Amino acid sequence: MQLYCDSLTEYKRLATREVRIGDLLLGNFNPIRVQTMTTTDTMDTIGTVEQSIRCIEAGAELVRITAPSKKEAENLLNIKNELHRRGYKTPLIADIHFTPNAAEIAARIIEKVRVNPGNYVDKKKFEQIDYTDVEYAEEIDRIRERFTPLVKICKEYGTAMRIGTNHGSLSDRIMSRYGDTPMGMVESAMEFLRIARDESYHNIVLSMKASNPQVMVQAYRLLVNVMMDEFGECYPLHLGVTEAGDGEDGRIKSAIGIGSLLEDGLGDTIRVSLTEDPEFEIPVCRDLVKRYKNRQSAINNKPLTIPAITKVPYSPFEYTRRNTNTVSNIGGKQVPVVVADFMKAAAIRHEDLQAIGYTYNTETDKFTIADAAADYLYTGKKILDFALPGTLKVICDYASWLTAPDKEKYYPLFQSTEYLQLTDHSGMLNFVAADVNEPACQELLQKIRTDSTVVLCLYSTNPHAMPSVRRYIIELMNQGIHCPVILAVESHDTTIDEQLIHFSTDSGALLLDGMGDGIWLMNEPEKIMNQKVSGRTYLETKNNHQFINNTSFSILQATRTRISKTEYISCPSCGRTLFDLQETTAKIRSVTHHLKGVKIAIMGCIVNGPGEMADADFGYVGSGVGKITLYKGKEIVKRNVDSAIAVEELINLLKENNAWVEKPM
Ligand code: SF4
Repeated sequence: MQLYCDSLTEYKRLATREVRIGDLLLGNFNPIRVQTMTTTDTMDTIGTVEQSIRCIEAGAELVRITAPSKKEAENLLNIKNELHRRGYKTPLIADIHFTPNAAEIAARIIEKVRVNPGNYVDKKKFEQIDYTDVEYAEEIDRIRERFTPLVKICKEYGTAMRIGTNHGSLSDRIMSRYGDTPMGMVESAMEFLRIARDESYHNIVLSMKASNPQVMVQAYRLLVNVMMDEFGECYPLHLGVTEAGDGEDGRIKSAIGIGSLLEDGLGDTIRVSLTEDPEFEIPVCRDLVKRYKNRQSAINNKPLTIPAITKVPYSPFEYTRRNTNTVSNIGGKQVPVVVADFMKAAAIRHEDLQAIGYTYNTETDKFTIADAAADYLYTGKKILDFALPGTLKVICDYASWLTAPDKEKYYPLFQSTEYLQLTDHSGMLNFVAADVNEPACQELLQKIRTDSTVVLCLYSTNPHAMPSVRRYIIELMNQGIHCPVILAVESHDTTIDEQLIHFSTDSGALLLDGMGDGIWLMNEPEKIMNQKVSGRTYLETKNNHQFINNTSFSILQATRTRISKTEYISCPSCGRTLFDLQETTAKIRSVTHHLKGVKIAIMGCIVNGPGEMADADFGYVGSGVGKITLYKGKEIVKRNVDSAIAVEELINLLKENNAWVEKPM
């Protein structure tokens, strides 16, 4: 095992125990299962049955239903019976928070229960208490006493269990000892897992969800590492980024978190949490899983061996950015840059730059620059016939660069062999495009180590693309070569979702490990133009450059490497939800989307919401029918506000805390 997976270079799924959920087998190399969760009131039997059927028809192999109290847990029997009567035997999961009694009822009725170790026994009060070792051990005994009955019931009834840790809802006890760290998340699950193992109960799946993909990925890796160390074996993993939001951002965040782990063979079941109707989560899950179904055969058909990694020069359990040279505005401590690819554009006009964040005003002959404005424009062979905005520079092919009038604005792009052969380079900045599988890449290492003007633009034609680029960057690190790297990813996928997933996984996985000083995304626009993504939040591609630019900035935002817009942490909603989350999220987004760097949580219920809104700066939380409670961090500032005026009150709260700026006209 290499730290947390079987191989960092070959595609190998992690070996785990096998878990039985009804008739469905999970883990131990069974197919990666896809699942979702209903959003209906669990007491609405027919509504829940019909929504479950929509999810099953869309491809869900497991359906989770919330059971906030005993009565909902009991109603799971009616839901299950009605589903069976209609011919649907898909395993059901009860989602439990705070209510062991409900769990013990549900475990006798349906195939699986999910418990949250952060709140199964502990009540969260956001208190900082210092525990002595004796007091801590007493707390574990208290958990054992309360949790063991459920384990025994699951064992007796053949019911499976997920021990599902959430970054935002760690118990006060765990927080006091570990803080809200990946290790705190791992230990939170391990405490429950040890108790289950003591009872010889192993029908267990584990999850480590967070709304921040960086924390989520580190926690899953650490969990595998700790399980292997302590038990010498792993339990299957349920992957998910929690409160990912909706639309493009929700898909990108989920793909970065889930995709990064799937690339390394981790993950036995996935759920993509979107603030959309649950059946719309399933196609995204399927697109994610699809990438790995044929990964091994694709590798076999194109055997480009990635050399094994013997030394990993970074920690996969914490974020450290790779140490790179500062070359102009790239690398060093500067945020990753965005390259907009206009190679295929027949001509480039002032107004075309609006799609990448530069709006031209003909009267003043000036550009206004958006927060998400690209830093470089790749023109291929073209030299522009107008003056560019001050912050935008051009990359063009070497031969065209020789003819460019302004060498302070234009920089050459060399193919790796050109760079090795030609001597006429820019004295400031040279981009070198390299497929990491080419033999020339090894030769490049010798030359670039002494050239402080080089920025590598790395891509891979290997079907196992991200690990092959990672392997090359690891080689740079091991050899002490500090050239900045721009991650160049090209998608030939045919749908918007597939492209988003491809871009997010192949660049996001590297950015999460501190590798990458820029991002350069390319696609075939004709494949997705005017395409709509179904779901209540529609994505539509009318302008491909805008789509690519937004995707680039969203990936950087989701990996927390460059913040250019408001961040939304919105729960997917469930049977506890007290208002229309999708509509409210859209409303809040429409009035706050210009607030760069502010994190706003929109959570459906007060029972779970405040705990799960992680590191949000402000929270908008349902606290009763038609009532909203507003938070600053974890602190309540306005209680039970009428929902009709709650968005206005949220704006007032932002103003009171100097987090508001007026929308640019
Ligand atoms: S925060 Fe949202 S998804 Fe979580 S329990 Fe409350 S309503 Fe359900």
